[in-house]
Amino acid sequence: MRRWIAAALLMSPLLAQAKLPVVASFSIVADVAREVGGDRVDVVSLVAPDQDAHVFQPAPADVKKLAAAKVFVVNGLGFEGWMTRLSKSAGFKGMTITAAAKVKPLAMAEHDEHEGHDHGHDHDHGKVDPHAWHNPQNVVLYADAMADGFAKADPDGAAYYRQRAQAYKAKLGELDAWAAKSLAAVPADRRKVLTSHDAFAYLGARYKIRFMAPQGVNTDAEASAKGVAALIRQVKKEKVTAVFFENMADRRLLDQLSREAGVKVGGKLYSDALSADPAASSYLQLFRSNVNAMLATMK
Ligand code: ZN
Repeated sequence: MRRWIAAALLMSPLLAQAKLPVVASFSIVADVAREVGGDRVDVVSLVAPDQDAHVFQPAPADVKKLAAAKVFVVNGLGFEGWMTRLSKSAGFKGMTITAAAKVKPLAMAEHDEHEGHDHGHDHDHGKVDPHAWHNPQNVVLYADAMADGFAKADPDGAAYYRQRAQAYKAKLGELDAWAAKSLAAVPADRRKVLTSHDAFAYLGARYKIRFMAPQGVNTDAEASAKGVAALIRQVKKEKVTAVFFENMADRRLLDQLSREAGVKVGGKLYSDALSADPAASSYLQLFRSNVNAMLATMK
């Protein structure tokens, strides 16, 4: 009996410190998971900052990470085409939280206006656009999904998760209100942006910005020469003022477009990943940095 008590006393500080092991598919959902989970979770991201989740190929080390986790947080909407096979390889028996489960999805962008644009490949990946995080109102839903999921996996922390999600959602609300006000001050015909892959439809829909991209919703789709030529004509016709490269994508195609359409490079947009760059080391910073970069060229 005494030995049992001694062992319990010895164990309890360790138990108190044991954090909920969480694996997140990529850096943006990992950041939201840390915001909501705080000190009670230990979050590991599979796809690192500045890396491209579309073309990610899990390595044996990733299988190991997931096998050791209790919770797997993914974006969903078909973004992580590799997640089912990874879960199987890891023998993952824990809880999967789909951050975007309650998001009203946008249909995948069609590139009808660029005749000859080869978008056949896109359709292999699903019918909806997965980049829902570019609208902070959707990230509010991500935070709720994580608070609910973490509370189920770790019931003692339920109130803690709810309170942290609430605080984070307040920040998202401020960010959204600031972006809406700042962008509404720009004349509609100047709210046009050219970037490399079609990652910003949710941002465009929320703040009425027209985004154009030579590549489809998936970065593994090739931009055809004919599609690029059509886009150059369109950029000239619509008087687009700036093109932006992305933190996780090759910028060569964008540089070519910039040269051939005679449009300056407005800078960098952070699309599908956080960055080692401190300007976008959290989702809140990423979003603010993207809006500021666009505002600077639209003025
Ligand atoms: Zn993408």
